[in-house]
Amino acid sequence: ARRVVYGGGIGGVNSGGKVPLGLKRKGLRIVVTGGAGFVGSHLVDRLIRRGDSVIVVDNFFTGRKENVMHHFANPRFELIRHDVVEPLLLEVDQIYHLACPASPVHYKFNPVKTIISFQLFYKTNVVGTLNMLGLAKRVGARFLLTSTSEVYGDPLQHPQVETYWGNVNPIGVRSCYDEGKRTAETLTMDYHRGANVEVRIARIFNTYGPRMCIDDGRVVSNFVAQALRKEPLTVYGDGKQTRSFQYVSDLVEGLIRLMEGEHVGPFNLGNPGEFTMLELAQVVKETIDPNAKIEFKPNTEDDPHKRKPDISKAKEQLGWEPTVPLRKGLPLMVSDFRQRIFGDHKDVPV
Ligand code: NAD
Ligand code: UDP
Ligand code: UDP
Repeated sequence: ARRVVYGGGIGGVNSGGKVPLGLKRKGLRIVVTGGAGFVGSHLVDRLIRRGDSVIVVDNFFTGRKENVMHHFANPRFELIRHDVVEPLLLEVDQIYHLACPASPVHYKFNPVKTIISFQLFYKTNVVGTLNMLGLAKRVGARFLLTSTSEVYGDPLQHPQVETYWGNVNPIGVRSCYDEGKRTAETLTMDYHRGANVEVRIARIFNTYGPRMCIDDGRVVSNFVAQALRKEPLTVYGDGKQTRSFQYVSDLVEGLIRLMEGEHVGPFNLGNPGEFTMLELAQVVKETIDPNAKIEFKPNTEDDPHKRKPDISKAKEQLGWEPTVPLRKGLPLMVSDFRQRIFGDHKDVPV
């Protein structure tokens, strides 16, 4: 049976009482907000594969039905088109709260739409997170927030440890994202302390892989799409700023371990392998097209100079560390991008 639910408002409700975590092999009922997005859809694949029932709640702002379409015939899968800014009634055991307009083009390059940015980022992160915490409180579900390394801002400590409070400009162009996520973390801890909600917080560092939005402006997707289309790779600033890139399957493993484990966090989930943007461009060239050109462009305001996770805490308390280095993960993403950009390879430039 095809179990797809369309239309906004209150979504579908599963029946039955809460399944104790100890009996999870009977199958949990799990809601994944933002489950039609890049990370969410890979998480859904894993949860469905291990036998759980999954409800995806997504407004398709940056997500796509295509990312989860392969589950439509599965009776353990449901898709609800819903904006988490509106209240939602469901009966579930676990909530993975990923919903967030996570694409940088929307906050960095669209000053005209400042108010829209506020609506999108702040409302989703604050009101949306509040609603999902209210849901967790009402049904006694465990709640996991996907926060971000952006809570560290332009960090003055390197690498970043979870105890570092960050260096965030509260009035800058990217504050709606950074401060939105910081508030989401605050709300999560308040519901934990004040209402005994079982919570988990992940601080995700730059992640890449198949199903990433092709034109959302993030650096890995930009470089890969540009190299495939025979366009110059756009390096912002001098290209000496660093990021640490994690393959999506490593992240999904970390998120599941965090949800199932006994520790609240926050936990950094990222790959400590650190690259300058020029080094990243070089790896993309080696993987796709050694003749690709580089074009320098002005950088955006408040761009963090360095970013690299200290993952000692996740290693120790979750027994987790990434296993896929950039040079192994990138080719897996490239075949997906090639397929999506060129379809049956008809228009591949020579
Ligand atoms: P994505 O844009 O692919 O996925 C986000 C999903 O949320 C999309 O499907 C989108 O349609 C949905 N969404 C947005 N606003 C919504 C709303 N109001 N109601 C319902 N659904 C809504 O991004 P992603 O990379 O998969 O990110 C997933 C989560 O991980 C986000 O919370 C993001 O902040 C976090 N994160 C990602 C990275 C990364 O590098 N990918 C890094 C740090 C944090
Ligand atoms: N909420 C929801 N689904 C639920 C329970 C609550 O969407 O199953 C929303 C509710 O509409 C509210 C928010 O979560 O806006 C916070 O709920 P809580 O009960 O914590 O606070 P209150 O409703 O008392 O303000
Ligand atoms: N960047 C770049 N070229 C691009 C897109 C981004 O050089 O086409 C740079 C950007 O200035 C930043 C880094 O790559 O220094 C990572 O940017 P992204 O938006 O992917 O992630 P975030 O800044 O959120 O870490």
